[in-house]
Amino acid sequence: MDYKDLANLIFPDVKPIEYYEEKYPRRNLKEGAIVTRFAPSPTGFMHIGGLYQALVARKVASQTDGVFFLRIEDTDQKREIENGITDIVNSLKDFGIEPDEGMVSETDEKGNYGPYKQSLRGDIYRSYAKYMIEMGKAYPCFCTPEEVEEIRKKQEAAKVRPGYYGVWAKCRNLTVEEMAEKIKAGEKYIIRFKSPGREDRKIKHHDVVKGNVTFPENDQDIVIIKADGLPTYHFAHVVDDHLMGTTHVIRSDEWLSSVPLHLQLFHEIGFKAPKYVHISPIMKNDNGNKRKLSKRKDPEAAVSYYAEQGIPGEAVKEYLLNIANSNFENWRRQNPTEDIDKFELQLNKMSVSGALFDMVKLLDVSKSVISRFTAEKVYNETLKWAEKYDKELADMLTDKEYALKIFGIERGNKKPRKDIAKWSDVKNEISYMYDDKFYNQNVKYEYQKISNSDKIKTILEEYINNYFDENDDKQTWFNKIKELAGKLGYASEVKEFKANPDKYEAHVGDVSTVLRIALTGRANTPDMYEIMEIMGKDRIKERFENAKKVL
Ligand code: GLU
Repeated sequence: MDYKDLANLIFPDVKPIEYYEEKYPRRNLKEGAIVTRFAPSPTGFMHIGGLYQALVARKVASQTDGVFFLRIEDTDQKREIENGITDIVNSLKDFGIEPDEGMVSETDEKGNYGPYKQSLRGDIYRSYAKYMIEMGKAYPCFCTPEEVEEIRKKQEAAKVRPGYYGVWAKCRNLTVEEMAEKIKAGEKYIIRFKSPGREDRKIKHHDVVKGNVTFPENDQDIVIIKADGLPTYHFAHVVDDHLMGTTHVIRSDEWLSSVPLHLQLFHEIGFKAPKYVHISPIMKNDNGNKRKLSKRKDPEAAVSYYAEQGIPGEAVKEYLLNIANSNFENWRRQNPTEDIDKFELQLNKMSVSGALFDMVKLLDVSKSVISRFTAEKVYNETLKWAEKYDKELADMLTDKEYALKIFGIERGNKKPRKDIAKWSDVKNEISYMYDDKFYNQNVKYEYQKISNSDKIKTILEEYINNYFDENDDKQTWFNKIKELAGKLGYASEVKEFKANPDKYEAHVGDVSTVLRIALTGRANTPDMYEIMEIMGKDRIKERFENAKKVL
């Protein structure tokens, strides 16, 4: 009896690996093309860190004319939830991340290197496990979970490293005959890797993000096929990324310490190992302590949070690129309107320790991103959000033509307005443009420099009766406010006011502020000329009358 007979006894019906090697030929891509993937477990919670990895992977694959695929790692079937794959596919789609290959729904996939769902790849893993047994590099282990626990306890008592290795690996040294006998007697078993490693030897590894790292060799005989016939993550990773032609494994740095094992597995099975890109987690500043963004404590850890708040996917993506490469910010400054796809992401410039997540900064980025949207896009996105989360806002948007006028204020020019950071801001930002909202909200007119009731009344009356003309262009409109200021004894130029601070009570800007507050109830709004243009004379007059009533 030899290893081959043992392998046949364990896996009598599986195909030889040559079948799969032929079925999944090397990819024919140009030199330097990156083939990479996003490989989540369908646990029903998409973490912002996962999105970050997927974004980085999608981007470097696109930049190099490579391939980005979505593989579902569902070999731990206890953790699975219903519609977990749909959740992942849709979350990626919400952020405009479209894989070239992989799962597209719970059951469908695209691409020639599938199945892309690990639970459907059982035969493939068993074929490669058989191959390992044939080579004497894997073996059946008959230890029960209780026996493994027993070993752990002994190791603890002896103060040595835990695990199934060396002298502790009881089944490692059974003869082929002994193993065959146990199998024939119906004993239960799993398959373990026979590690050739030694803990007192070091391996050097170059990680694309982390740089050079040194680890002790792996000497653990880890499980490769579990009792349920499915592989462990480690074995599935090696088989899948080999067959799918992955050149770069982009994954969370919690896997960094598994690199010695993974490299050893690749080496022993005889495959070329991919490059590893271990991404640092996104961190949060929690009262001065830096810690990982936590699923339990931080609502912003879930990607669903951004959709709920109405923060556009484009903004989240742009913010994540900010985190990924610190030169992004500079690039954006130089290319304020360019598509982010034009930015060249560099993996080796990613932060080695985790970058800090900063909500204020994200909202700031979002304001800029939204300021570049057309009025039509702002309208469509706001409506889509409002229909789901804010019925009142959705109703306000029924008159599309009017809403487009509002969203069009200060948009499309060199310095577009930056008042909206998220769709949930919109109602507050535009409510004063709706008479039914405005007159029902008990406006507090908080006048500033010019606060005397008579003076305010004079400004409002003079302006609407003698200066305002719907046909004026912006320059004329503004000149008239200057004229009005001059006529009422205020400085008609700010410069003049600054030169003679004792001569004037206020200047043209203060007069404007009175008009703005009476018109909208606010001291800050986008361009007042455009607001007046949209409202028209009658509505402006009505607003002023209302303001006068409460002087
Ligand atoms: N399923 C693993 C995880 O979610 C994937 C790690 C990898 O990308 O290889 O952590």
